[in-house]
Amino acid sequence: MSFTSASFVMSASVWNGGPAPDRPEVALLGRSNVGKSSLLNRLVGHRSLAKVSATPGKTRLLNYFSVAEPKPWYLVDLPGYGFAKRSKTEREGYAQLIWGYLSQRETLFNLLLLIDSRLEPQALDLAMIEQLAEAGVPFTLVFTKADKLSTSQLRQSVDRFMAVLAPSWEELPQHVVTSASSGLGIDSLRAYLTEHLSKH
Ligand code: GDP
Repeated sequence: MSFTSASFVMSASVWNGGPAPDRPEVALLGRSNVGKSSLLNRLVGHRSLAKVSATPGKTRLLNYFSVAEPKPWYLVDLPGYGFAKRSKTEREGYAQLIWGYLSQRETLFNLLLLIDSRLEPQALDLAMIEQLAEAGVPFTLVFTKADKLSTSQLRQSVDRFMAVLAPSWEELPQHVVTSASSGLGIDSLRAYLTEHLSKH
């Protein structure tokens, strides 16, 4: 299954400013620079559907893409978090946008939370996971930039992350390991989404 039908629909500046909630939505979220735009482009097989940002943290919009396979759904690119040079007002606006969307968008079906596989578990990512769990948002962890590590380093990195979560999770969240550069895990991620969307 490929998602090559993907096309840009619209940007929304408020949480409920997207299209009519009549399709399942899969959202993408992660710290700025985690590789979100690159993953989105690779997932849908377009080189530049989502812009790979030269200036991280610039976009504060929900970007909607329409995908037809296996049935119509929306891929929603959420603005990245953790960009240091944000004012308090900007951070508050961001929190409203993201949490309004995550906790109230009735058609949100799954959130892909991107984690940079090269880094030690990051406090901001762990805090996000805790908040998602508290809010009851269904999510899947997607480790990015796997091409930067050897197979054993990669396993260590994923194990280390899961070990941090283990004490507070009865059943660990599902995860997929990917690289937008090499394409590793991209088919698995597509298959995972296709399977879940088909059942929905
Ligand atoms: P975003 O800010 O989360 O949208 O991240 P981008 O997609 O703009 O990527 C941030 C930086 O990481 C860019 O320099 C990308 O070229 C690089 N990058 C993204 N994905 C990968 C990957 O899979 N492997 C490698 N090696 N670099 C990546």
